[in-house]
Amino acid sequence: MPLIEIKNLHARIGEREILKGINLAIEPGTVHAVMGPNGAGKSTLSNVIAGREGYEVTEGEILFNGENIAELSPDERARAGIFLAFQYPVEIPGVTLSTFLKAALNARRKAAGEAEIAPVEFLKLMRDTARRLNLPDDLIRRPVNVGFSGGEKKRADIFQMSVLEPTLCLLDETDSGLDIDALKVVSEGVNALRSPERGFLVITHYQRLLNHIVPDVVHVFADGRIVKTGDASLAEELEANGYADYTDAA
Ligand code: ADP
Ligand code: MG
Ligand code: MG
Repeated sequence: MPLIEIKNLHARIGEREILKGINLAIEPGTVHAVMGPNGAGKSTLSNVIAGREGYEVTEGEILFNGENIAELSPDERARAGIFLAFQYPVEIPGVTLSTFLKAALNARRKAAGEAEIAPVEFLKLMRDTARRLNLPDDLIRRPVNVGFSGGEKKRADIFQMSVLEPTLCLLDETDSGLDIDALKVVSEGVNALRSPERGFLVITHYQRLLNHIVPDVVHVFADGRIVKTGDASLAEELEANGYADYTDAA
């Protein structure tokens, strides 16, 4: 069974249809990349999967582990194991990353019928993960994302993803792209989390991220539709030729 299966998904923002019939299945253990021109609807897709407000699903369904998640809130989806990174990192004044993550982790555990993590075990998990990702200790003790630079926000998001161990990781790079430092943190973080039970949807405007995170499947997105699907070589072809072939057809 796919980890997530999206069938004929249509979604709109206000009166405007943005997603025009998306079909996509991500098997556990695979990395899917989504590429495509600005405004194609890539972020909309990740936001709709995560259940963010402001989108209306008008047709189709999203099955996560075989169950329709249409009625679940963003929180419930997160507790079920869906993690959306990067698009709009939230600032939480007064709440440290450590406090925030402990609550989020225990909410996930509770949803899975597991006991709360022991304080000592949690501290060890934070320390080990920070060391593995080369994250400075003080970042963990600061309020979530407040005053973080762009690169620090990316690091903090990868840190959260590593601690929470979601089964579906949605990474929306944002149009500004990544500097070299963030690129390294993101790709190493993702590669360390690749595992047989986990799936990734990596949205990127730039091919270079996919030199570091080699995808199993690449989709080209244009005007609210997946217009082409291929393997990693498709990303290279796009790098060489751009999206013109696909946008003209869309
Ligand atoms: P991408 O991530 O591929 O660049 P988006 O999903 O961000 O594309 O946007 C798809 C389309 O939806 C664009 O035309 C964009 O202008 C529009 N859009 C996105 N967010 C909003 C919004 N909050 N209100 C109105 N239109 C929006
Ligand atoms: Mg955009
Ligand atoms: Mg986008």
